[in-house]
Amino acid sequence: MGVSYLSALSLSTGMRILLVEDEIKTLFFLRQGMEEQGWTVNTAMEGDTGFRLASNDDYDVIVSDITLPGMSGLELCAQLRNRGIRTPILMLTALSDTDDKVAGLEAGADDYLAKPFEFRELLARVKALARRPTTSVRPEKILQFSDVIIDLNAKKVTRSGKEISLTPREYALLEFFLRNPGVVLSKVAIAEKVWDLNFDTGTNLIEVYVNYLRNKLEKGFDKKIVHTLFGQGYVLREE
Ligand code: CA
Repeated sequence: MGVSYLSALSLSTGMRILLVEDEIKTLFFLRQGMEEQGWTVNTAMEGDTGFRLASNDDYDVIVSDITLPGMSGLELCAQLRNRGIRTPILMLTALSDTDDKVAGLEAGADDYLAKPFEFRELLARVKALARRPTTSVRPEKILQFSDVIIDLNAKKVTRSGKEISLTPREYALLEFFLRNPGVVLSKVAIAEKVWDLNFDTGTNLIEVYVNYLRNKLEKGFDKKIVHTLFGQGYVLREE
């Protein structure tokens, strides 16, 4: 039995689930089944209660019905995403309607299951969401690369513990780099993500800002971290 099996096992037995469902029989049935997996299940029967619980506590996965009294499952989902809460969300609905599925995914849900479903199908979906490496289980607070740290809440940047003062644009640029370590970022991608612009090849805006950032981030430190790849763009790498 390998380490990966063990870690997957411990992940799936210790999970915390928020279940939002207004149909009491379904709620009890799902809760019981999940508790039999060794999961901790908190429940809400209204969207507003679900939103409050999800905002105040950390869950591995949220399972929510779409049609709920008060705030709907879609609103619940959209409002959590607006708050920067990225907990994976599995939406349930009685309607196997494509429009509902699209609406759910647009609201920021990660997966979708139409009722009636088999319970083991729900378990498999929940486990898959909890394992997904791209979704963070808790809202992100810190981004780190090498000795550079961004505190996303305080919008504070430090390198080796020394605070570095950046303009909002330089900060956005650094955040984009830290979210993509080791990835070659083209000027086009940077212009779109950081400036929300279509890249005009006549401008040296990106070079100028990358240089501002380097001056603040690398002066007085041994290692360079933002590297230019001629004709390709930039890459965050420790060298
Ligand atoms: Ca319902």
